[in-house]
Formats: sequence, C-alpha cells, structure tokens
Amino acid sequence: MFLTSPVNAPSKPFAITTPLYYVNTVPHIGSAYTTIAADALSRFHRLQGHPTLFITGTDEHGQKIQRMAEQRQLSPQEHCDEIVGGFKTLWDKLLIRYDRFSRTTDPRHETIVGEFFQRVKEQGDIYLGQQQGWYCVACEEFKEERELLDGDRPEKRCPIHSNQSVEWRDERNYFFRLSKYQAALEALYDSQPDFIQPPSRRNEVLSFVKRGLQDFSISRINLDWGFPVPGDPEHTLYVWFDALLGYVTALLEPDDEVSLDRALAQWWPINLHLIGKDILRFHAVYWPAMLMSAGLPLPDRVFGHGFLTKDGQKMGKSLGNTLDPVALVDTYGADAVRYYFLKEIEFGRDGDFQQTRFVHSLNADLANDLGNLLNRTLTMAKRYCQQQVPALSGADFPADHPLKQVGQSLQERVPQAYHAVAFSVVCEGVLELVRLGNKYLDREAPWSRYKAGDQAAVEQILYGVLESVRLGAYWLSPIIPSLSTAIYQQLGFSVDFNDFTNLHVTLGNNTHHTWGILPGGQPLQDPTPIFRTLDLPEGE
Ligand SMILES: [Zn+2]
Repeated sequence: MFLTSPVNAPSKPFAITTPLYYVNTVPHIGSAYTTIAADALSRFHRLQGHPTLFITGTDEHGQKIQRMAEQRQLSPQEHCDEIVGGFKTLWDKLLIRYDRFSRTTDPRHETIVGEFFQRVKEQGDIYLGQQQGWYCVACEEFKEERELLDGDRPEKRCPIHSNQSVEWRDERNYFFRLSKYQAALEALYDSQPDFIQPPSRRNEVLSFVKRGLQDFSISRINLDWGFPVPGDPEHTLYVWFDALLGYVTALLEPDDEVSLDRALAQWWPINLHLIGKDILRFHAVYWPAMLMSAGLPLPDRVFGHGFLTKDGQKMGKSLGNTLDPVALVDTYGADAVRYYFLKEIEFGRDGDFQQTRFVHSLNADLANDLGNLLNRTLTMAKRYCQQQVPALSGADFPADHPLKQVGQSLQERVPQAYHAVAFSVVCEGVLELVRLGNKYLDREAPWSRYKAGDQAAVEQILYGVLESVRLGAYWLSPIIPSLSTAIYQQLGFSVDFNDFTNLHVTLGNNTHHTWGILPGGQPLQDPTPIFRTLDLPEGE
C-alpha cells in the first residue's frame, strides 16, 4: 500500500494538475493515462462535495516546437493551436472534465512568469554564467556526460531518446541557484514523507539529491520561441522555468487582474501534481526549490506514475507499435478505456497494454460481473415485484447480512483508496461486492422462493442485490461515469454523473455512499445491457 494522506474534511478544497503536455506532436497514450487518472480523482472529490479544481493544459515553447513547426512550414503558434485542438478533442472523447486548460502561450502567462522571475532574482538566486555541455533537444535538458549513450555510433545520444544525438552547447545562460536549496529540499522530503509518491519515486529523488544539486540554466540564446528574459531580451527563458509556472497562471479566473498575488489568492497550494516518472526531477526538485526561492507555499504531493508498454515492449514510433488513444476510445468507448488503465495497472508502477487482456478484463468485470448482475436482478424485479424497488430499506437487514457488511465496509475502504491514488484497489473493492451479489443470488435462488410463494424472501433478496449494484456504480462513477449513470437510471434515478452542476441536487440527501438507501417503491426501468461483450481481435 501507498502512504495515505489524512482523509480530507468535507469542505477542504482540492486542486489537482496533470502535466502541461508538450505539443511537439499529437497526444499519446501516456498523456491520456495521466489525464484519465486526474479526471477520476477530481470526480471523486466532487462526489464528496469538495470544491475542486482540475487543471490540465499544454507547454508550447522551446526549440523542439520551433523546429517541428519549421518542418511543417507553419508558424510555431499555428503548430501549437493545431496540436492543442487534438488534445481537447481527445479529452472530450475520454469524458475528461477539466476546469482550466492552461496554455503557456497565453499572454497572461508572460506577466506571471516575469513577476515570478523578478522575485527569484531579488533573492539573489538568478545569475549569468557559462553553460557548456551536451543538450538533448527532445528533453530540453542538459545531460551529464556519464549518462550519455555511445554504443556503436560516433555521436553521443540521450539515454531517454536513444535515436537522437545530443548537441554540444557552449553559451552564456542565466542560472537558477538550485544548490542553495539542497538542505531545504532534504528537510522537506524528511518532514513530509509523502511529498513524493509512490515510495519508489521518492527514493529515486532522494538519491539524486544526495549526489549534490547543481545550479541549472534557465535561459537559452538563439531561441525565438519563448519569453524573453526580463531585462535581457537576448536570452529566452528555458522552457521548464516557464512551463512549471503554467500551473500558477491556470489559477486566474478569466476576468482577474493578471498578477502573481491574484493568481495565488485561490486554490494555492496545489494539492496534487500527477505526472509521469520521466518528469519527476522537474516537479520534485526544481519546482519546490523555485517556489521556496519565491517565498511561496509548496504543493502537498507529487505523484509520479509508471510507463506504459504494449505487449511487454516499449512503445515508440520507430518501433511501429504505438497505441493510438483516439482509435482506442473510438473503438471501445471512454468508460472501457478508463476502466482498463485504472483497474489493470497498479497506479505508480509500470503497466502493460495487451489487446487480449483488455477484452477479457472488460468482459469479465463490466459485462459479466457488473452488467449481468444488474440485468438479471432487474428482470426478476420486473417479474416478481411489479418492476419496483421492494418496499424495504437498509434498516430491514441484520448487521451481519453479507451484502450489507461488505457494502458498508466500502464506505471507508473506497475513499481511502482514492486518497492513496490506488484505483485498482477501488475497483477490487467494488468487484468484491458485485461478485458476492452474484453468488448470493445463485445461492438464495429467488426464482424458487417465488414459486414457493415466499414473496417476503424474494423482496429481501432482490432489494439487497439491487442496492449493492447501486452502491458499486456510485463508487465507480469517477472511473466509469457513463456506465454508472446507465445503472442509476435503470434503477429509477434521474442522476447523471457527467452533469456536475446538478449532481448533488439529483443525488438528493447525501447518503449515497452508504448501503441501504435505495428508495422502496421506486419504479425501475426495463433491463438493458449496460456493456456489450467485446470480441477478441481476429486471430486470437
Ligand atoms: Zn532526451
């Protein structure tokens, strides 16, 4: 298990970010993965009634973008606008409901970055120096000689971008005095052990910092696509210095006066930065040091998830085995894609996509376990109970009733798992209840009880199962919002988990997290399969 934060009090605001994705190319499955996770967490907090802010966006400056635009014979801004359109389309398809889409080319962002730069400079933490070293344009980062790959080729290559050579640079740059924050960062990791999660990522950072921190350059010369360094327009701000501050600019309301203080007046500090482990160093080392320098409060947590592979292999364009998130969601729908990645991969670890496993997992959990349980119970309620919820409530069940017991245990287990960003634990908890519901139905055989004329027993059995399906749908709604909505509607509610404006009105009294609230006498809808069984790809 991961370390867990204390469970938020009901009114505590929750602000979460995805990375601001680099727009060198169309969104890949890794970006979709982080964004699905952030969306599920923000939906969970909204469900709990917490004021919630979900920030995503794009990082649009830097040499890589400039070169990409040149290749495509577009202006950098035209290139960015086009790629941003692709991100927004994908997020719509995946039912991602962000509150802010922060673009680093937003004119307001330049003001925020300039003000922040000034504060850090006033602390004596920015100076002009000479930068010599190997630069990877794909990373937008200088590399240490010892991390480079030599191999069989004459040119040195980046360890992350092994098909690209690094470039030798020798130039005047502005530096940020990271070395000054060595002790303060170590004290932070020590006093706030869950600042970096999961523990494996924390250990990576601790050992990196322990080797000694070096100042890093925050500007480039001969780069047009970026913000000029305040007071020295020959230099352009380094893309990461600018990109991280996109989280701050995102906090501005559309009509706000544009200033750092205004931006930080609400929602700051961010509760959770959700990132891929490739950008851990920037978020867990550089970012808190920059904030300390500017005298600002630090985010609560940085969670670095693992990499995705396909059929056990690293994905890459050159390998020809990329997984197109647009094609995936067009084929299977948003809920299927969301469920697979959040349930089948322990969040934080590396995870694999396999078509066969994808199909089997969705068929087993959503079509068979959850979907069939609802379907067969609704069919029986139609036949035996005038298509109404039997006139019972949770109070009519003894405390040791198996469904009631497991259902009530979820009230603690599920929120804990969401707080620990352990989506697979959420899903397993709900599946435990659902599978128990199926077994219970088989064992209690309401069809025989009905034939024997034991109507009271039939009603008790069906109520218990219908209520368990409802509770499962409620807890899974941050992950599979449309399927949960379909379940709720077949159970006679007019709830739409994708409609945040009316969600708490339609949920009515806020007891849906407890077992036993399904209103007796509520008319049920005709049973309709909520999830159609998927076919295996041809040849498998
Ligand atoms: Zn690289």
